[in-house]
Amino acid sequence: MAKYIFVTGGVSSSLGKGIIAASLAKLLQSRKLSVTIQKLDPYINVDPGTLNPYEHGECYVTEDGAETDLDLGHYERFLNRPTSQANNVTTGRIYQNVIQKERAGAYLGKTVQVIPHITDEIKKHITQHEQLGHYDIIIIEIGGTVGDIESLPYLEALRQLRREVGKNNCLVVHLTLIPYLKAAKELKTKPSQHSVKELLQAGIQPDILVCRTEHPLPEDLREKLALFCNVEERSVIEALDADTIYDVPLLMLKEQLDSTVLDKLGIENNETPDLSTWTDFLDKLKNPKHEVNIGLVGKYNELQDAYKSIYESFVHAGAVHECKVNVIPIHSETLSSGDVVPRLQNLDGILVAPGFGERGIEGKLLAIRYVREENIPFFGICLGMQCAVVEFAINVLGLKDAASTEMNPDTHHPVIHLLPEQRNITDKGGTMRLGAYKCVVDSSSKAYTAYGTHEISERHRHRYEFNNDYLAQMEAAGLKATGTNPKTGLVEIIELDQHPYFVGVQFHPELKSTVENPHPLFVSFIRAALDNKKR
Ligand code: GLN
Repeated sequence: MAKYIFVTGGVSSSLGKGIIAASLAKLLQSRKLSVTIQKLDPYINVDPGTLNPYEHGECYVTEDGAETDLDLGHYERFLNRPTSQANNVTTGRIYQNVIQKERAGAYLGKTVQVIPHITDEIKKHITQHEQLGHYDIIIIEIGGTVGDIESLPYLEALRQLRREVGKNNCLVVHLTLIPYLKAAKELKTKPSQHSVKELLQAGIQPDILVCRTEHPLPEDLREKLALFCNVEERSVIEALDADTIYDVPLLMLKEQLDSTVLDKLGIENNETPDLSTWTDFLDKLKNPKHEVNIGLVGKYNELQDAYKSIYESFVHAGAVHECKVNVIPIHSETLSSGDVVPRLQNLDGILVAPGFGERGIEGKLLAIRYVREENIPFFGICLGMQCAVVEFAINVLGLKDAASTEMNPDTHHPVIHLLPEQRNITDKGGTMRLGAYKCVVDSSSKAYTAYGTHEISERHRHRYEFNNDYLAQMEAAGLKATGTNPKTGLVEIIELDQHPYFVGVQFHPELKSTVENPHPLFVSFIRAALDNKKR
């Protein structure tokens, strides 16, 4: 039977529950235990697919095509294992399942209530992993902050599950904040005491406190926290602010979070955590020998979380080359023809980001034209690739009103368009081309040099596609389809002949980059940026 570790958060949001959960999982994995992590999200949306990136950051897509919370990206980047629909659930989906069952008559005339029906559904979701694969440990991150109305059913499900499986099989790690009051020059424990009280009201005594802090926790403060929050002193774990999220597993190792957890769960494990690949990566990350500036042209730049996986992919790929990658956000809406040169000329490469809708398209097209003509490395992802096709159609093929029908449904030259099977879909939730699809890569392409193989599989999240009616014309003028879907013939990768590096991909490579497996296309793009800098 798998053992469960719940991670709850107190005092404030954004303390990094996802990173703590992923770091703990990494340490347990490094001791040869099999671990998975789930995220329970307390909002009513059935999934985050319909959320604006400003609301909730990036929507992370799994191999099986689930649109999920961005924390799943951290889980994959840390554990180097794919997640799936089973790793994320929202209150919306829980209620949807319960209501569907009610309509089907599954409750046999009973009144359907939060307890037990909603809590049962939550528990069912949590425990389904036992059927899905063998895990020694399942970590469950409960989204939101203890005390929120929305989290109550999840805490109740946790209380019940813990009662059912026994305390030796179920731990609660509470992540809390220890604020520093500058004027008093003191770290304060009171907010944490209060958040533990909130948990106690829900019938849950936390086993371990992980304390986010800007300053090291002195011994007497640890004692005080242990006393007032009713935990052992070794269970008060310091989580100092780190330079990079990738330091956190090592900080947790130093605080012996892994051995305390194993001890409390009664798991015998004499392995020494093997983190050699991880520390090699950190070494390179922290001691770069080179540096490049990459422009990230997008329209959600105010919020870094909107491009989370892209930023992290640059970190992974940079480390491969011992190169510091400075990502310079360039808001596509503010880019006009007059300032393209001053704003882009000192960049070693630009990435045009994924996105939806018309806003900011002009800026993207201007940026692409500039790097195409000036031989600056270009990497376009999803909408970024579609914009490269549109730009080429307008400025090289001379198709003046060429566009994606997403932006201009009446264009005479729909170089990017909807496939017939998408045309009658009106529902927005879960209806895009989602998840992993195979792609066959041409031998003579830059993509092939990067991947080193013909057959790849990458994750998608889009509605619009390259219009193959224009393929011959584009290829004759130098824009080649170098990767295609073997089943449908859809164009998945485009590259420009006679350019040092001009690669656009219809899929999302950033979703598959991990610390241990940096994505080949990000690695090759940084290589190209380094070469460009030398030139
Ligand atoms: N809006 C485009 C489409 O739906 C691109 C989506 C994306 O960049 N993820 O096809």
